Amino acid sequence: RVAASLSRQHLPSARLSGDGAAPGCPHFDVVVVGGGHAGTEAAAAAARCGSRTLLLTHRADTIGQMSCNPSFGGIGKGHLMREVDALDGLCSRICDQSGVHYKVLNRRKGPAVWGLRAQIDRKLYKQNMQREILSTPLLTVQEGAVEDLILTEPEPGHAGKCRVRGVVLVDGSTVHAESVVLTTGTFLRGLVVIGLEMHPAGRLGDQPSVGLAQTLEKLGFVVGRLKTGTPPRLARDSIDFSVLKAQTPDDPSVPFSFLSETVWIKPEDQLPCHLTHTNPRVDAIILENLHLNSHVRETTKGPRYCPSIESKVLRFPNRMHQVWLEPEGLDSDLVYPQGLSVTLPAELQEKMITCIRGLEKARVVQPGYGVQYDYLDPRQITPSLETRLVQRLFFAGQINGTTGYEEAAAQGVIAGVNASLRVRCRPPFIVSRTEGYIGVLIDDLTTHGTSEPYRMFTSRAEFRLSLRPDNADSRLTFRGYKDAGCVSQQRYDRAAWMKTSLEEGLSALESIEFSSTKWKKLVPQASISTSRSDPVRALDVLKYEEVDMELLAQAVPDPLAKYTECRELAERLKIEASYESVLLHQQEEIKEVQRDEALQLPEDLDYMSVTDVSLSHEVREKLHFSRPQTIGAASRIPGVTPAAIVNLLKFVKATQ
Ligand code: FAD
Repeated sequence: RVAASLSRQHLPSARLSGDGAAPGCPHFDVVVVGGGHAGTEAAAAAARCGSRTLLLTHRADTIGQMSCNPSFGGIGKGHLMREVDALDGLCSRICDQSGVHYKVLNRRKGPAVWGLRAQIDRKLYKQNMQREILSTPLLTVQEGAVEDLILTEPEPGHAGKCRVRGVVLVDGSTVHAESVVLTTGTFLRGLVVIGLEMHPAGRLGDQPSVGLAQTLEKLGFVVGRLKTGTPPRLARDSIDFSVLKAQTPDDPSVPFSFLSETVWIKPEDQLPCHLTHTNPRVDAIILENLHLNSHVRETTKGPRYCPSIESKVLRFPNRMHQVWLEPEGLDSDLVYPQGLSVTLPAELQEKMITCIRGLEKARVVQPGYGVQYDYLDPRQITPSLETRLVQRLFFAGQINGTTGYEEAAAQGVIAGVNASLRVRCRPPFIVSRTEGYIGVLIDDLTTHGTSEPYRMFTSRAEFRLSLRPDNADSRLTFRGYKDAGCVSQQRYDRAAWMKTSLEEGLSALESIEFSSTKWKKLVPQASISTSRSDPVRALDVLKYEEVDMELLAQAVPDPLAKYTECRELAERLKIEASYESVLLHQQEEIKEVQRDEALQLPEDLDYMSVTDVSLSHEVREKLHFSRPQTIGAASRIPGVTPAAIVNLLKFVKATQ
């Protein structure tokens, strides 16, 4: 543990009587602490839901700061962004206004696992995000460091839980709130590390959050420790790009947001990325200097899927590791060497970098560094992201053990919406794993917890073919509009138009029929199997790789031509056709899971004293700690056997 660098002025947590409001104290419906990727989404979502919201963060000029990589999206992460967008969140739209290189990953695989990704201009992203936040109705921004929480004593009928009433800032001032969302990222007792040097900081140049970490621990939250790291930044003009392989962006660019027809920059004006590799000399410098690298020796867990170069060399010696040289922005002189996250002493970082092809003369402008920080065991929050210990207190983002901007943004929207719904005494807005990657993320965190930084992958979702980037609006926008109130009329109308157009288009494709001989004459490019029994539905013809809506519309302009006027609609019809048969099967599986999800478990069930049915002590303990809200969630807790689930069901039914 780091010695506190900020003086702790408010221990113990201020527990006030009554409603806790001090006279003259500012009063908001929702207070969001932290202006990172979770905080911006949470604050904007709460405001969209109609709550008077305050975003309280250390510095307004760091709102929307990308602490590490200058990119958004990727496999699984791109899915989260589409879902955030479907709920009218910000990051996808802002990325469509700030990217400098757009590329869809996994194109060779099916559209269900395509990964929308873009290199983002850091400066532009921050500017655009700050403009958006500062112009959001009902949303106020205030600079300040939150040190403590205002709480009231447990009220009768709330299972002994106290309730949050506001926050206390480092200068002793208070802000009263009906709900509070904490999105403090890597700042809780943050410690920055380079070589053997360590100093308290939330990230390089930013103060850590120590008082708040102490408050949470005092309240009884289970706290863990994680670490991550970032590469050095290199001077662009010191790199010899001529010897490296360039990657060009996609043409046309695929936007992240359902509301964007296109992105702000033409493909020909976008910047390339370049690929280089490490070599045995890099390995040697790392291995010879492990004694000077305390972050690597630290047993705290770091991100498994975005590891430091030291971890890669130790785990996979004698391999050439990829290093992508990514532009930091259109007018930036900096390049981000993705894959080279490192915590060697600064002078050794430069020595290591200059061993790499193309980087022989590279200048390090800012050294790479590591950060170690507290996170809170996410099994202490419910699927609405409200804490189980304190009513109306929500956690979102890296504080819950995740890593990545997109994971943070996804939690931010859900926490902001639920903080607002809670104020209005409305039921929580929960996304199930059958509805979205957001549901998968939150269900994984709240049921399994995490002992290493959690990041999203498509392999984490069991219903991948249904949870596609293209259909996130049909999965979430209508619910976001009706159940949460976080979706604008414009977005709702657009999603409704798309839904109707898809239904009409699919039914037209089903109704048009051809003999295969006739169809082959019309569309010779399509190698339709003649063994197929006649007649062939246009929908089946569209399933062939070589066929698209344009081709079909040339053959049958009426009624198909109108479905090619919108490129997105034409592509979505093709995707729906391709997945038609597998989706029918998956719908059955989804219904089964939804049946289990509908079986709610009582919130106050005392698992340790359930004696009427056979539940092992181990199972009771697991249920007691995770407090699943449904039978479905209980069945996903590792070690809770199907037999235990049957007995639990019997018990719950008998007591209802
Ligand atoms: P942040 O973006 O960190 O925002 C936290 C915000 O809270 C800040 O604005 C801060 O000022 C504010 N704040 C904190 N405490 C208080 C307080 N008490 N009062 C008021 N305001 C407060 N992700 C990856 O996917 N891959 C990586 O390789 C990777 N490497 C990283 C390396 C480093 C060094 C760092 C710092 C982060 C890295 N990340 C990486 C993580 C990524 O930056 C985060 O996952 C993401 O930014 C989390 O978003 P967040 O909103 O939870 O927190």
